[in-house]
Amino acid sequence: VHNGLVIVFFSLYSLSVNRYKRINYLDKKALRRLSSRDALTGIYNRHRFEEELRRAIKHAQRYDTQLSLVLFDIDNFKQFNDKYGHLPGDELLIMFADIIRQNIRKEDLAIRYRGEEFLILIRNLELDLAVSVAERIRRQLEKKRIQFDINGIVWNVTASCGIAQYPVHSNNIFKVIEYADKALYYAKSMGKNSVVTYDQILSDANRQGK
Ligand code: GH3
Ligand code: MG
Ligand code: MG
Repeated sequence: VHNGLVIVFFSLYSLSVNRYKRINYLDKKALRRLSSRDALTGIYNRHRFEEELRRAIKHAQRYDTQLSLVLFDIDNFKQFNDKYGHLPGDELLIMFADIIRQNIRKEDLAIRYRGEEFLILIRNLELDLAVSVAERIRRQLEKKRIQFDINGIVWNVTASCGIAQYPVHSNNIFKVIEYADKALYYAKSMGKNSVVTYDQILSDANRQGK
């Protein structure tokens, strides 16, 4: 009887320990998912991006390839929010995140960078190919001709984009992000709804210099 009780006790004990370990494992997984994703759009956030960026740079250095940083910003989004309200604005962010997700490869990474800005890390593609990915995203958003049923007003939602490459434009990744931002700013100043590379800024500056 005594041995029987000992066996029953230890079986119950080990069952509960295993259960605890399993719950703990699931919690960790859920936590990791929550901490690496943006709550609204479900795409990755900056936290995850920094981790991936470090890995991507190492890979680019070892295999002598490049990384493109593609920065998107929705045009006139403040006006959109003012006209339709924040909920439709949120829906629009979710939709744009979906368009981005559908147009990048498994090895690329898209994050919500700041408010209505999305940053995509494209690995091992020449600048021209990275531009065509960005163009596809830009065109798909433009084509949607978002219509909100408030007063039947059609609003053509568009986005602008700036692209810079590591290590082509700089071997300092923070500079590359800054250059993508400059290219984005340039796209805005040229009338929005377009994709501009840092190369274009350099060549325009050269032309003006001559
Ligand atoms: P531009 O074409 O120059 O980019 O103009 P813009 O109006 O898009 O840019 P601005 O930076 O002036 O405004 C960005 C707006 O994005 C302001 C802010 O209310 C809105 N925004 C940022 N995050 C969110 C969000 O999570 N949900 C909603 N609905 N709006 C957001
Ligand atoms: Mg912005
Ligand atoms: Mg904007």
